[in-house]
Amino acid sequence: MGSFDTIRYVDDPKFAVEGKRVLVRVDFNVPMDNNGMITSDVRIREALSTIKLLQKRKAKVVLMSHLGRPTGVGQEPRFSLKTVAVRLAELLKSDVQMMSDCVGDYIKSRSIDLKSGEVMMLENVRFHVRETKHPDDFGKDLARNGDFFVNDAFGSCHRAHGSVTGVAKYLPHAAGLLIRKELEAFGPLLNNPPRPYVAILGGAKVSDKLGVIDAMLDRVNTLMIGGAMAYTFLKTADRPVGKSLVEDDQLKFAHNMFVKAAEEHISLMLPDDHVVAANMDDESAKVVDKIPDGMAAFDIGPKTITKYVKAISTAKAVMLAGPLGVFERERFANGTRAICQALADAHKRGALVVVGGGDSAAAVEKFGFVKNVTHISTGGGASLELLEGKELPGLVALAAPDPK
Ligand code: AMP
Repeated sequence: MGSFDTIRYVDDPKFAVEGKRVLVRVDFNVPMDNNGMITSDVRIREALSTIKLLQKRKAKVVLMSHLGRPTGVGQEPRFSLKTVAVRLAELLKSDVQMMSDCVGDYIKSRSIDLKSGEVMMLENVRFHVRETKHPDDFGKDLARNGDFFVNDAFGSCHRAHGSVTGVAKYLPHAAGLLIRKELEAFGPLLNNPPRPYVAILGGAKVSDKLGVIDAMLDRVNTLMIGGAMAYTFLKTADRPVGKSLVEDDQLKFAHNMFVKAAEEHISLMLPDDHVVAANMDDESAKVVDKIPDGMAAFDIGPKTITKYVKAISTAKAVMLAGPLGVFERERFANGTRAICQALADAHKRGALVVVGGGDSAAAVEKFGFVKNVTHISTGGGASLELLEGKELPGLVALAAPDPK
């Protein structure tokens, strides 16, 4: 994180934005249901501090974001940011002018016409394929809508896209308050964490978290594995896994991680018992020590919960990245719920508790522990890459000097 020391923040008094257009990259990539209704507005709420600060400083606020994965060849109504703009206006208690596009002369003239403190929302930057394919070129076009650039889209900082890295090359820039909050939460976990430091890695695939597992073994005292990825590790350890999800091409990797953990004296914990069923829809789930042939494990069992909770109970820093089972279904939710409770208890006794984005954040929200942890990241992929020790392109762009 040392290389990010040169990042300026939006509340720096020298970032003089009064009366100027400030183009702000937010991450409004919110989950929506099939009817296009927003199912969690956390990402919009988390952007409010920066937007309100800019309004207070009498800037003209021009917001841009992506939403979903449109094809990039024009407007697709289901990926429009219109609904988001409506929700933002409610939360902000001020008007939000919704634009029909994010680049072009008309949009530029509308940004110039804004009055100080007014807010404008550009349409989805990913309606243009250049956002992802030609970031510098597209960033130059986007930059016409601002005099300054603020990036507050932590969840997009691992992407070298036009609205994240490209635009920073053309405008004086600063990071927003959400990015600062995220970096302040992850900083202690990356540099000199309070110990014992316990990480819990869950979720569907080992292959998604190779770098994080490897990097975590350099930092933590205890690494607990849960979720489907536990079964690739258990198979490597010659334990029966039945029909559980196993990535056979990751067995060698899992073996190497056992070796690394032993060499570095890290406790690598795996489930001892499991909640199994014939398939995810099978309602006759039961607890077993040995996964029978023909059955798959969808959650950790009670003995494992006790073992994991005990290890968390003495931790001074805890990181959760990924659910421990198929928590979306009640019969497979106990493991993840119990770990969330253990996180809340750890937080209560003063431990630093950080939750990686995506599914783990959804689980903490679902079980009602949002206020009982130190920090829930708004970035799934971005938080994992940060934990891996990678430099995020969006942060590198912010740390670079302003253009001449
Ligand atoms: P990820 O996106 O990698 O964090 O994976 C999250 C998903 O993993 C969630 O939707 C869970 O339902 C799923 N998951 C967790 N444990 C298991 C398991 N034992 N078997 C299958 N899927 C699982």
